[in-house]
Amino acid sequence: MPVRDPSLEALQDVPLKPYTTFKIGGPARYLCTVTAAQHARDAVALAGLHSLPIFVLGGGSNILVSDAGFNGVVIHPAQTGLDVSTRDSVGGASGAEVGLSIGAGEPWDRTVAFTVEQGWWGIENLSHIPGQSGAALVQNIGAYGRQLSDVFEETRVLRLSSGEVETLSEADCGLGYRRSIFNSTRRGQFLIWSIALRLSSVPQPKLGYRDVEAYFAERGNKTPSQREIRQAIIEIRDRKFPFPREERGGNAGSFFKNPTLGSPEWESLQKRVRDRFGDAASDRIAALRLRPDAATSRASDSVKIPAALLIDMCGLKGYEAGRAQVNPSQPLVILNQGGATADDVLRVAGHVRRTVHRETGVALDLEPELVGFRPEDVQSRLGLP
Ligand SMILES: Cc1cc2nc3c(=O)[nH]c(=O)nc-3n(C[C@H](O)[C@H](O)[C@H](O)COP(=O)(O)OP(=O)(O)OC[C@H]3O[C@@H](n4cnc5c(N)ncnc54)[C@H](O)[C@@H]3O)c2cc1C
Repeated sequence: MPVRDPSLEALQDVPLKPYTTFKIGGPARYLCTVTAAQHARDAVALAGLHSLPIFVLGGGSNILVSDAGFNGVVIHPAQTGLDVSTRDSVGGASGAEVGLSIGAGEPWDRTVAFTVEQGWWGIENLSHIPGQSGAALVQNIGAYGRQLSDVFEETRVLRLSSGEVETLSEADCGLGYRRSIFNSTRRGQFLIWSIALRLSSVPQPKLGYRDVEAYFAERGNKTPSQREIRQAIIEIRDRKFPFPREERGGNAGSFFKNPTLGSPEWESLQKRVRDRFGDAASDRIAALRLRPDAATSRASDSVKIPAALLIDMCGLKGYEAGRAQVNPSQPLVILNQGGATADDVLRVAGHVRRTVHRETGVALDLEPELVGFRPEDVQSRLGLP
């Protein structure tokens, strides 16, 4: 039973399982829910007092917590609310640019729903992604042809080492595909307090992504409204990625990132796939260059390879270890079939990584953050030969 430490407003020995969409994970030594900067500073002081590490936990939809839990201080942002400012006209058009500042603890999809109700364009394609608005910046969430960086302006952050609140610009945040300074060079240094976006009241539908195009083509709808686009994204997502609410079916979305390969690696993948799986499979790899949603926008000679395609080619759909399973319908996702341990998930993930590497030469990187694991356990489960 969690007990409250009255002096520090921190809960002790709190099971993290209910705080994650995987519904997996042992206890946190301390859990501090913060709604004011001073709460966060107190939590940092608590960690200092006991020489414990800190972990910032949002909606728990992009993490896997170890069975042993996290022997440290978990800071859980709970500051919500939206601030709106209307600015200059957009490129001389009659519409306005809308500035939206969002508290980090605000559920991301509630933010999206609000902007669609107001008719402010920019994040409708990012509908129904679980988690908090602050965390959306951490991996620069992306889906259906949009990424947060398309509309991101700046963020207010609390520097954990000093407790100072500062503003970081888009350039400071180093945003890329599933990447920012917050999950790479400056990992663990900041608590994102709020994020500011730049939206537009001028319609800017982005319908080029294959599934979205097909959805509206089937319905003969050439000019969908923003509400219809949000509805389409929700329906498409729900068919592929069940929104995890129960333990059975718990997951963390894509467990692997889509690898980006330069021309030589891509050619060698094509050759390897031809030798191993035949011409038809190799043609599928060749066709990727032509898909607008597979090419990376950053480097024209590089190609984003759907990791799901490689996992599927290797016959891994439905692969199980313990109570964890590669989702038979969307193999990027690892499912908790009810009662899975974190170790079950790592065993499945390790088997997928090693098989894909052996058969195609591609090393898949994990998307969720692993929390509270011993490095040697991660290496033994996930390491490549
Ligand atoms: C069904 C499903 C579908 C998904 N679909 C997508 C998708 O289409 N596209 C996509 O990009 N992602 C997707 N995800 C992944 C996930 O939803 C996003 O990455 C989301 O932004 C994570 O938010 P969270 O609040 O749950 O973060 P958490 O999982 O709690 O944390 C993720 C990371 O962010 C850090 N963090 C969290 N909040 C803060 C903060 N305020 N300050 C500093 N660091 C912080 C944590 O320390 C951790 O490193 C999906 C996940 C699920 C379960």
